[in-house]
Amino acid sequence: MDIRIKEALEKEKLRQKNNIELIASENYVSESILELQGSIFTNKYAEGYPGRRYYGGCENVDEIENIAIMYACQLFGAKYANVQPHSGSSANMAVYRSLLNHGDKVLALNLDQGGHLTHGHKINFSGIDYEVIFYPVNEETHMIDYEIVREIALKERPKMIIAGASAYSRFIDFKKFREIADMCDAYLMVDMAHIAGLVATGLHENPIEYADVVTSTTHKTLRGPRGGIILTNHEEIIKKINKTIFPGIQGGPLMHVIAAKAQCFYEALQPQFKEYQTQVLKNSKVLCESLKKQGVKIITGDTDNHLMLIDVKNTFNLTGKEAETILDSINITVNKNTIPYDKESPMVTSGIRIGTPAMTTRGFKETEFLKVGEIIFKALSKKSNLIELKEQVLELTKNI
Ligand SMILES: *Cc1c(COP(=O)(O)O)cnc(C)c1O
Repeated sequence: MDIRIKEALEKEKLRQKNNIELIASENYVSESILELQGSIFTNKYAEGYPGRRYYGGCENVDEIENIAIMYACQLFGAKYANVQPHSGSSANMAVYRSLLNHGDKVLALNLDQGGHLTHGHKINFSGIDYEVIFYPVNEETHMIDYEIVREIALKERPKMIIAGASAYSRFIDFKKFREIADMCDAYLMVDMAHIAGLVATGLHENPIEYADVVTSTTHKTLRGPRGGIILTNHEEIIKKINKTIFPGIQGGPLMHVIAAKAQCFYEALQPQFKEYQTQVLKNSKVLCESLKKQGVKIITGDTDNHLMLIDVKNTFNLTGKEAETILDSINITVNKNTIPYDKESPMVTSGIRIGTPAMTTRGFKETEFLKVGEIIFKALSKKSNLIELKEQVLELTKNI
């Protein structure tokens, strides 16, 4: 291996070992998933779908893709799945291009308030190609206000409503979204990228019976390889989606990644995966309670899932950027994040987002997360020496 590449890899191994990783969208995959993603399936071209390929020699990758589809459907109780999207963003693009025409109206949650770039941000294809209007969260509770969503939907009559978020710590009521979508004859798309692992284990309501189509990433709480999936119970929709993914927007599928996705779904079907997700939630609750007790302002006041948003401006008089840098210096990795009605720019922000999936995979339980809460509080309130705090972090990550 090239020496420079090798060095960067070795340094990254150390970083991933020594740091407390609290980025809510990251995780540590199993050895089997790593092995499959680095496997010889990467050598194979397989444009098309199982049994309908444009290349010879596809008998083994056909089997892999069929297994991935079968497990995905079993895991989420869906009738149909497309496992080829290269990422969550491509999955979303495929849905828009399957169900909408250029310029059609879409209703989604704003990026600033917890949504995702691909939910219509003006610098993203979604905001450029479609007319996207946004529902805000409630000004006081900072929670999704279904009454507001309903009012905007009835007034604007979008062709599609998107439910799902990247920085929202509470349960999402998919049934209510379905009712609203029905009132204005809109498609309902649910993007469960962040919560897919919780959905898979019954710890968050499953959107599949309410949504026309569900998209997800496979690498966040689902703990699989970097990639996307699309699920639906409707035959006419999966037909369109399949055509859009290939030949519409992608070429050859990443068969090594699809093999790793199949393994990811298999792992998620095992009882241990439910234990893992249950611990993710316990850890999230403990961390949230510990921070609140110390006076930290949590957006919406609580968490129902694997993440929480901290208002560092109102708690510590820091920007999100400053908080991220301070925590970085003691080996705690988080990301700055806008909070609802933020006055700072997206590169500065007033908040940070914290998630428990990655460190739960590494074995952290309530005791460790209580400690993490104390360390974060001390670091951001500048109450302790940062060098000592970094030593405490290294102590926590030393033996795992
Ligand atoms: C992460 C995320 C995506 C995009 O996933 P990528 O694989 O990074 O393209 C889409 N939607 C939501 C809600 C996300 O959180």
